[in-house]
Amino acid sequence: MNIIREPRLMQRESDGLRAAGKRIALVPTMGALHAGHEALIREAAARADAVVVSVFVNPAQFGPAEDLSRYPRDLERDTAVAAAAGASHVFAPGVQAMYPVGYQTYVTVGDVALPLEGAARPGHFRGVATVVAKLLNITRPHVSVFGQKDAQQVVVLRRMVADLDFGVEFVVVPTVREEDGLALSSRNAYLSPAERAQAPVLYRALRHAGDLVRGGERRGAALADAVAGEIARGSTAAVEYVAVTDAATLEPLATLAGGRRVLVSIAARFGSTRLIDNILLDV
Ligand code: AMP
Repeated sequence: MNIIREPRLMQRESDGLRAAGKRIALVPTMGALHAGHEALIREAAARADAVVVSVFVNPAQFGPAEDLSRYPRDLERDTAVAAAAGASHVFAPGVQAMYPVGYQTYVTVGDVALPLEGAARPGHFRGVATVVAKLLNITRPHVSVFGQKDAQQVVVLRRMVADLDFGVEFVVVPTVREEDGLALSSRNAYLSPAERAQAPVLYRALRHAGDLVRGGERRGAALADAVAGEIARGSTAAVEYVAVTDAATLEPLATLAGGRRVLVSIAARFGSTRLIDNILLDV
């Protein structure tokens, strides 16, 4: 396992790999690796000769009141998990290496970054787009791999990669879940036992939405209300939003039209822990 901490050294390594005819995959992460990340790394390993897992808790994507300082960090463990899943390189830069004194360039994606998480977390996607643009420039991959768990992030980054001509293949891996349906997330560790017991309600509510659509429901608002109702019945969580949108544009859908892919997404707080989840439905 090759652990690299400096952007210039990573670029040199990637240039060497490319010169040797190797295909490079990038899996961007914030560490605290779990089985969701492992699925991304395995997918990357199936598509490339060298798999770079970046581990960087990106301050630019956290709001001032968010959990940046308490975000779990354990590079030694992450390196072992990444290696076991098929990574060849871990790129783990320090904050100063990524955002040195005088840093002032940011990437802003348009409409798709505005609703949902973009509305709830001002500046979040500016931080995400900026760091992923930098990681793509530093690691120069042929393919990059992301998780459907962060559905809007997928839409935003796909847009950025196309708009800025990154010329990198964009692969999305389905959400990996616990047996009870809870989507794996580093933030699940913050849940109290009582909150953890309630948290599977999110995926139950999303599957309920799928049942309703298969049963003929086509009204977006009715669907959103039903999802929120399921969450209220099954937990004490505070729902931040339930959104029924076009999966590609993230525009809210008053009516679900046939042939369209629909994204139902949720953000909800269990105590102080904010969880997101989503489901894609084909109408
Ligand atoms: P993070 O470390 O939370 O920034 O996530 C790094 C990557 O892993 C992102 O592309 C996430 O969408 C993806 N990811 C996180 N959790 C899961 C999961 N449960 N299933 C699939 N992908 C995930």
